[in-house]
Amino acid sequence: MHQFDALGLEENLMKAITEMGYTQPTPIQEKSIPILLSGTKDFIGLAQTGTGKTAAFGLPLLQLINTADKFPQALIVCPTRELCLQIVTEIEKFKKHKRGMEVVAVYGGASIGLQIRTIKRGIQIVVATPGRLIDLIERKAINLHEIRYVVLDEADEMLNMGFQDDIEFILQNTPKKESTWLFSATMPPEIRKVSKKYMNEPAEVTVGQVNTANVNIDHQYFIVASHHRYEALKRLIDFNPGIYGIIFTRTKADAQEIAEKLTREGYDIDALHGDLSQQQRDAVMGQFRDKTLQLLIATDVAARGIDVKDITHVINYELPDDTEVYTHRSGRTGRAGKTGVCMSIVHSREIGKLRQIERIIKVPMHKLEIPSGKDVCRKQFFAFMDKIIHTQINDESYEAYVPILIEKFADMSKEDILKRVAAMEFDRFLKYYETAEDLNVRERSRTFDKFSRDGRSERGRDQGRERSAYRDTQGRSFKGGDQFTRLFVNLGTKDGFYKASFLQFVLDMSDMKKESLGRIDMRELNSWVEVEKKSASRMIASINGKKFKGRNIRMNEADSR
Ligand code: AMP
Repeated sequence: MHQFDALGLEENLMKAITEMGYTQPTPIQEKSIPILLSGTKDFIGLAQTGTGKTAAFGLPLLQLINTADKFPQALIVCPTRELCLQIVTEIEKFKKHKRGMEVVAVYGGASIGLQIRTIKRGIQIVVATPGRLIDLIERKAINLHEIRYVVLDEADEMLNMGFQDDIEFILQNTPKKESTWLFSATMPPEIRKVSKKYMNEPAEVTVGQVNTANVNIDHQYFIVASHHRYEALKRLIDFNPGIYGIIFTRTKADAQEIAEKLTREGYDIDALHGDLSQQQRDAVMGQFRDKTLQLLIATDVAARGIDVKDITHVINYELPDDTEVYTHRSGRTGRAGKTGVCMSIVHSREIGKLRQIERIIKVPMHKLEIPSGKDVCRKQFFAFMDKIIHTQINDESYEAYVPILIEKFADMSKEDILKRVAAMEFDRFLKYYETAEDLNVRERSRTFDKFSRDGRSERGRDQGRERSAYRDTQGRSFKGGDQFTRLFVNLGTKDGFYKASFLQFVLDMSDMKKESLGRIDMRELNSWVEVEKKSASRMIASINGKKFKGRNIRMNEADSR
């Protein structure tokens, strides 16, 4: 077994990590630390989140930086405020026995004045999100001219979030850097481009397979009809009583609506999406971290960079459009050697997408059935019994009450008492699930099972057959060639819309870009929207059935009516 001693770290750092309980380096640490300690080599580390990247770059930085110089020497750029704070927290722990080393977190949504004052006090390491850093550069409140090391953490996420120009700007504003270290979970062409432009023959270290999901994660999927998605979600939550999880939706409207519905139904859940103020976001994250909230529902953008320990489940309420995003979502669970489950609620049309994801994560996804009402009750019941059996009792506190209890229940059998206790917890639950319908898509499941067993070419053929069979039953048109599908919506000028506001409304609801839309025709009561063919079902799924001023919105393909 490899130990930290062999990596060349100085005494004070060894002492700190030993106190933190690190006994062996993780693979990324073992491979990167010796290279990075040389200080002069550009570096690309391909590793998933949760693999110990922070120590892999943090420890060498702390060793390389000159504590006598009280100006910024190292810059770590990361995609989100949460990640920024996590990195700083870790670095603070690593530098516990190192004197004269100061680090600052620079991120949006917090007082810039305070950050500027901290910078002025003389710090050596800056950990920053791109937006706020550029703000500081433009205000001339930070001097990056003496920066020797630039670390780009979660580079792929930063590009996903549209920070490419910002990163280039930052790299151009660090003229004296001796080396650039780039960490990323995936290696899309954009990152290659950045590395080619700004890095000099970087050493490349890969841990595990790039684009590969963690083997500690069990990937499961459940096929349901679109209108059963919400019910299926509830069942999956109820079937996993100890769940501590993140649910992903494609749109903020979905995240908000589902959170509200589930809260009304008694679940511990809150939503994280772009519309929240930083304060609200902090409050939600705080509650989730300390487990007051059992479930968090979030859009991909809002959840980026969040690192919460011990997530048991990730649930994809819908699959992401971009299959690579699946890896980011599922990577929230199964961290630090723990096991986790990533469950995806999918529609029959998405089987092709599942296969694409399988190719990326390089492990099979398991098709499971949505549990029946009975299964859910049984599972909850066993969990409840376990809870009773394992409840910690402080004997002294109950000393006075036990004789009264014994007297009160003297005429009641043990069986009767247990029944009553169970009824208190379960009556509502049993009633709800008594008549629960089967949510699995049955007729088609044979074809899907075949998918799982068959080879790729067979799969491809079946996939086509399956798709056309589905479309036939929906009575959809098959007109190929044109770029757009025309969608009907039962909203019009009478609802207070004019074209621009209506355009904004559909974009907000579906989280799509303006470029995906074509013509909009508005009448008093109805409208028609042209949307790119490939995005039509997503738009329908995001809008159809939602409420507008208390009325159900209906959206469907215009040609199918
Ligand atoms: P990171 O990928 O840097 O976010 O690290 C994920 C988690 O693993 C953090 O909680 C680290 O403190 C922890 N960690 C990192 N390296 C080690 C190690 N060598 N031994 C034990 N825990 C570690």
